[in-house]
Amino acid sequence: MIKKELTKITKDLVSFNTTSNNYPELKKCSEYIKDYFKNSNLNIKTLEKNKIISLYISTKKSYSPDILLNAHFDVVPGKNNQFKAKIIKDKLYGRGAIDDKGPLAIAMFVLKEISKLHFDKNIALLATSDEEKGGFNGMKYAISKLNLKPRFTITLDGGTLHKYVTKEKGLIHLKLTARGISCHGSRPWLGINAIEKLINVYPKIKSLFKMNKKNNWEKTINLGFISGGDAVNKVPDKGEMKLDIRYTEFDNPKKIISDIKNICAKEKIEVTILANEPLFHTHPENEKIKALLKSHKKVTKVTPILGAEHGASDARHLSEKNIPCIVTYPKGEGLHSDKEYIDLKSSETLAKVLLDFIKNN
Ligand SMILES: [Zn+2]
Repeated sequence: MIKKELTKITKDLVSFNTTSNNYPELKKCSEYIKDYFKNSNLNIKTLEKNKIISLYISTKKSYSPDILLNAHFDVVPGKNNQFKAKIIKDKLYGRGAIDDKGPLAIAMFVLKEISKLHFDKNIALLATSDEEKGGFNGMKYAISKLNLKPRFTITLDGGTLHKYVTKEKGLIHLKLTARGISCHGSRPWLGINAIEKLINVYPKIKSLFKMNKKNNWEKTINLGFISGGDAVNKVPDKGEMKLDIRYTEFDNPKKIISDIKNICAKEKIEVTILANEPLFHTHPENEKIKALLKSHKKVTKVTPILGAEHGASDARHLSEKNIPCIVTYPKGEGLHSDKEYIDLKSSETLAKVLLDFIKNN
C-alpha cells in the first residue's frame, strides 16, 4: 500500500525535466507537489529567488517546526528517456530516482500521513530546486527569508538505508593567478615564465596537506585545473590554477586560506576565493538523533550506523545556523549516471521509520 503510493509519486516527479535552469519544468513540478497536498489542510508557502522555486509546507503556521523534512526536486541533466521512469521489480530507474525525487516522495507521503492525525507538533517539509547548484537560492535563501528555525532537520539526500550521516566536509575553491613577462621561447632568460611560477608553488601548498591515508577523515587538496600560455615557442606571461580543498571539523578554513595566501604572496601569485562553503556537522549525541536511530532499529530490526561523507549537501546551510540535522537515504545507486535507480522497498522502509520517529517524538 505505502510502496504503491511512493511508486506513483516518484514516477510522477521523475517525469519533470527539472534541471535547475529549466524554470517552466520547475514550476510544473512545484505545482504537482502543491496539488498532492490540496485536500490536506496544510500551510503552503512558495518562495522564489532567481527563478529557483522552494516550497515550505507545514502542519502549523510557523517557521520553527519541531521536525523539518528536506529534499530537492532539481536534477542534473539526463537523457530524454530518463524522464520516463522504468520499473523493474523493486527498482525504479530514471533521472533523479534516488537523487532526490524518490526521497522527496517519501517526505511528501510522510507529511500527508501526519497531517491526517491532528498532531499537536509542527511538522514541515522544505522542497528546494537548486541543490545541485549549491542551494544558494533554495535552502540558503529559505533559511534567511523565512527566518527558518527547525528544532531538528532530516535531509533525505545522502547516506543510505541503515546509514545516517552526521558530518560532511567543508569546501574551499581557490584560483591562483601568476603573472610573468613574455618573450621568445628561444631566449627564456629574457622573460618570466608564469606557468613555472605555479608549478613551483604547488608542492609548497600541497605540503600543508598530509593526505597519507586513502579515504581518511582529514583535509585534502586537488589540483583540478591549470591553464596558461598560447604557443610552445613563447614564454607565457599568465597562468591559472584552480584548487579544490575539502576540510573537516578539526581544521580551520581561515587558516588554510591564509597559509596558502602567505605562500603565494612570496611568489607574487594572486589568490582568489571562488567558493568557501561551511562543513556540515551535528553532534551524534543529539537527543533527536538517538531517538531516530531507536525508531530505525524498532521498525527495521537493523542497528543503523552513523557516518560521514566527503561530499557536500544542502545540510551545510543548516549547520552554519547551528540547526541540528541528519542526512539519510533509501537504497539506490547510480547518482548522476544513466543507470540511476531507487529501491522502492527501501523507500517504504524509510517512510515507516520516519513515521514512527515523528509520532513518538
Ligand atoms: Zn541530491
